Parts: sequence; structure tokens; C-alpha cells
Amino acid sequence: MEAGGDFLERLRAATSDAAVVTDPDMMAGHLTDWRHMFTGQALAVLRPGSTQEVSRLVRLCAEANVAIVPQGGNTGLAGGATPQGDMPQVVLSLAGMNNIRLVDPVGLCIEVEAGAILQSVRDAAAAEDRLFPVSLAAEGSASIGGIIATNAGGVNVLRYGMTRDLVLGLEVVLADGTVIDALRPLRKDNAARYWKQLFIGSEGVLGIVTAATLRLVSRPLHRSVSLVSVPNVQTALSVFGRAQTVLGDALTAFELMEAAALERVESHFDLTLPVQAGAWYLLIEAGSTLAGLTETVEAMLEDVFEQGWAADGVVASSGAQAEHLWTLREHITEAEAKSGHSVKHDVSLPIVAFPAFLETFRTRLPDVEAEASSNVFGHLGDGNLHVNVLLPEEAGSTGVMRFVHDLVHAHGGSISAEHGLGQYRVAEWERLTSRAEQMLLRRIKMALDPHGILNPGKGLPIKEHKAT
Ligand SMILES: Cc1cc2nc3c(=O)[nH]c(=O)nc-3n(C[C@H](O)[C@H](O)[C@H](O)COP(=O)(O)OP(=O)(O)OC[C@H]3O[C@@H](n4cnc5c(N)ncnc54)[C@H](O)[C@@H]3O)c2cc1C
Repeated sequence: MEAGGDFLERLRAATSDAAVVTDPDMMAGHLTDWRHMFTGQALAVLRPGSTQEVSRLVRLCAEANVAIVPQGGNTGLAGGATPQGDMPQVVLSLAGMNNIRLVDPVGLCIEVEAGAILQSVRDAAAAEDRLFPVSLAAEGSASIGGIIATNAGGVNVLRYGMTRDLVLGLEVVLADGTVIDALRPLRKDNAARYWKQLFIGSEGVLGIVTAATLRLVSRPLHRSVSLVSVPNVQTALSVFGRAQTVLGDALTAFELMEAAALERVESHFDLTLPVQAGAWYLLIEAGSTLAGLTETVEAMLEDVFEQGWAADGVVASSGAQAEHLWTLREHITEAEAKSGHSVKHDVSLPIVAFPAFLETFRTRLPDVEAEASSNVFGHLGDGNLHVNVLLPEEAGSTGVMRFVHDLVHAHGGSISAEHGLGQYRVAEWERLTSRAEQMLLRRIKMALDPHGILNPGKGLPIKEHKAT
């Protein structure tokens, strides 16, 4: 991996010594992904302190034809922030740009730099009695730039939408170093021609997000969290239908967990399930600024039990119990990581298709890989489940991945609901996406990054990209 001449010296001159990290020990954590599935090479890790520095660094990389891998908290689950391929490249870490510039509780918005950690943004909003609704298990490390670049979902999409629905304004550095400053906190802005949507969910292949203005909402004063066991997924949908009818907008999360997923949590962590065994579990959260929520949820659940849809359940009676129920849910990913080799699938389907999809998945999985076991959980209310499969260490993952993705395709779903394509799913995306759609995206890439220096090998296969 070479960049020629005094490339690194030019970078240092444009920023500072400390912003250009070449020490292998300091770089190591930036070169491997959260799941330790991907490791790459880089000439340096760059840690700019301002948008102007990002712009200068990008210009120098473009001149030297050095690729740039933007990185936030490095919690992505698709290898998008890890260098890939032989092209000389640098990791551009936004971690040093983490200021929260402004919180406006009346205009309901917050302006932050891309490296700000999601948890600190949520805390800053809460300090003004407002809520930034994106919430996910990695929120203590994931950055705002990362959640924008992956269009992250999380547990509150049902009520508040995905990250895309919460971005009002963006500041972006383009592949030639041009800075586009559009941090306007406007809810209505048809003059902007909606270009900002191109960058949301683009996984760093179209531009580098350096700051954003995000939408805040009122903070629900009342909260109700319950855990319910149900016999099958069809019944889970019946409960979902009833919850929507009774709770309406107050329903914020409707999560489904397979029994085996929670058993793994119990066996790897000191956590106990407060509900009697069922085949599936539902974690239901409702929130409202209006009083009477707990009574409404309890009445809804009574009805659910009377219908015979649920076997057992508990409504959290304190904030601590509510946290405990969420802790069980949030430890599933880590329990899976501790359980060995797994193939992750992040699928969305029309929600009513899930019972048939999961039935076929479970029936046919042993034919694909005899010793496979499933670890299914996720955001059923959003039509998004993580249909993960644990395999023996020596087993390859291609067959299982193709099996699941073919099934998703046959049911009219998406193989990347919220985690992105990264380098993990890019070949599958190419296999299952129409040529017309691929061509459209390549044209957009060519227009914004004609030399292919932004995050090569992610989202779009680079060779194909350059050839077209
Ligand atoms: C335990 C756990 C639970 C998770 N749960 C969820 C969940 O429920 N929902 C969900 O959607 N995700 C979830 N994730 C995935 C992950 O947290 C999100 O994808 C998050 O948005 C990544 O943020 P990050 O700052 O870590 O990004 P990184 O991992 O650093 O980067 C992710 C991608 O964004 C690009 N990128 C990063 N910063 C920028 C920037 N400033 N400009 C341009 N591109 C950039 C990178 O190049 C890469 O392609 C989970 C992860 C873990 C480990």
C-alpha cells in the first residue's frame, strides 16, 4: 500500500502531527470491525478537529488518489468502516469532532458535530426535557455521523421513523473537498431539492458527514414497558394489531425475541427472565405525555390474555424493572457474539409475511446446514427482524446467507433493513438487485465521486463502479 512521496507529511502540514496517526498500536482498533470479521490496512488514521481540516485532508487524498474510509464509533455491523481492498487508503475518524453546538427546546432541534456520541446527544436533549428518539444497544459508542451514514433504525422507529426522518440539516464534505453547509433547522425546505437524502444511509460512499441538525420531540413523561410470552409469530401479530388499536401513537416499540435468543442471554450474563417460558417473547413499550398510560396498557394486556394470545407477562412496575426488561433485549447481540460463529441477516418484509417466512426458514434450515441454530430477534413492529444463524466454527456462511436472502427476496423483502450493506452484504446486494437499480446508483456514485476514493468496496463493488 503506497501513496507516493511525502503524502503523510502533506497531511501533517494541513492539520497537526497528532491528527495523523501512524503508530500501529494506536491504529489497530480502527482497522478491525466491532464483530472482528473484517480487518484492513491503512496508511494512517486521520483525526481532524474541524470541518475545514476534513476538507483539506480530503483534497490532499484526492490529489494523491488515496481512498478515505470515514469512521465514527466503529460499531457498524456490516464492515462499512473497515478498509477493504488494495487501494492506498486512510481511515478518517470523526471522533474528535464531537461538539454539541446548540439545543433548541422550542424549535425542537439540536445541532451536533458528526463525532458526537449518540448517548451524549440523547442526554443533551433530555437536559432540555426533549428526546432525540434514535436508540440502539450501541448508543454509548455509535456516533451521529455513523447513524446518519447507515440510516440507523433502533427501537423507536415504529413511532418516530428512522434516522432519515430525524435529519433536518446536514454539513457534508464532498470527494473533492468541497464543503456543503446546509445545517438549516427547517422542517419545510423544498428549495433544497432533497439532496441531503442522498447522503443519509449512503455508508460514506458519497460524502463525509461533518455535522447535522437533528429533530427533537417531546419527551414522554409516562412510560410503560412489558414483556409477554406468546406461542407463535402469528399470535405476536394479533397482539401487535391490538396494541396499535388501543395505544395508537403511544406505542413506541414492539420487539420480538425467540426463546433461544433469551436463553443465550441468561447463560452468558447474570440476567434472569421474569416471565415463564414461551416460544417467543414480546417487549412492548409505550410512552406518552398524557396520564393514564399504565392503566391503558394493563387493560390492553388483560384483553390479550383473555383472547388466549399470551401465556405469561409482566408490566414493569418501576423504572429499574423497565430497564431490566430492556437489558435482556439489548444483550442479545453480545450473547450471540459470545456463542460462536454466526451469520447475521438484517431483513425487512411486509409484516404479515413473517409467520410464513419464519416457518419456511425453520423447516428448511437443517437441510442447508444440519447443525445450525437460529437466533431470531428484532423490531417486529417495523417489519424488521435479525434472522441470525449460529453455525459450527468450521462451517462456511455462504450457503446459509444465500438461503435466507433468497427467501427474503421471494417474500418481497429487503436484505438490509437498518445495518447497511457495508462490505458484508455488498455481493448479495449485487446478486439480488436489478441491473436498472444498480445502474442508477452507480451513476449517482460517478457524479459525486468519479475517482472512487470514498469508502471503496462498500455499498457498491468498486471494480464494477469504475468500469461503468
Ligand atoms: C450491540 C449493537 C447493537 C446495534 N443495534 C442496532 C440497531 O438496533 N439498529 C441499527 O440500525 N443499528 C444497530 N447497530 C449498528 C450500529 O450501531 C449502527 O450502524 C450505527 O449507526 C453505527 O454508528 P458508528 O458511529 O459506530 O458508525 P461506524 O461503524 O463507524 O460506521 C458505519 C458506516 O458509516 C460510515 N460513516 C461513519 N461516520 C461517517 C461520517 N461522518 N460520514 C460518512 N460516513 C460515515 C462508515 O464509513 C461506515 O460505512 C448495533 C450495533 C451494535 C454493536
